[in-house]
Amino acid sequence: MAMTSETSQTIPNRVLGLYDKPFWQLLAETRALHLQRCGSCGAFRYPPGPVCHECLSPDYAWTAVSGGGSIMSWVIFHRQYLDLYPAPYNVVAVRLDEGPIIISNLTGAEPEGSWIDRRVEMVPVPIGAEILPRFALVR
Ligand SMILES: [Zn+2]
Repeated sequence: MAMTSETSQTIPNRVLGLYDKPFWQLLAETRALHLQRCGSCGAFRYPPGPVCHECLSPDYAWTAVSGGGSIMSWVIFHRQYLDLYPAPYNVVAVRLDEGPIIISNLTGAEPEGSWIDRRVEMVPVPIGAEILPRFALVR
C-alpha cells in the first residue's frame, strides 16, 4: 500500500461488515443513533450482527436509541496515527442506556477527575461528507 502525504481531514475508508450499512445511513439521515433491536426478546445489539446475543433470534428492527449513556472507560492517545486525530486525543467506551457499548470520542469539555460513570449524550459531528457519532458531557 502506498503512503500518501495528504493532510486533509478525511475519514479513512470504512471496512463495512454485512450489517453495518444501515447504522451509518440512519445516522446520516436522522442524526440519531439506531441499533438493531431483537424482534424476539427486545435486546439491543451493537456492533450490528446476524443474530441476537441473548436469544439467537435472527429477527430485528433498526430502532432509534436515546443517545444517552455513561463513560465506562477512556484513554488519552499521545501518539498520532491518523490525520483526523491529532494527538493528544481521547477515546471513550460508552455504555448506552440501552445496554450496548460503543467506542467513540468525547467532544467538548473534558471531565475533571475521573471520567468513569460520567453521563454523556451522543452528538452527531459532521466530518467532510460523513457524520460521526461522538459524545459530550451532560451538564
Ligand atoms: Zn433476542
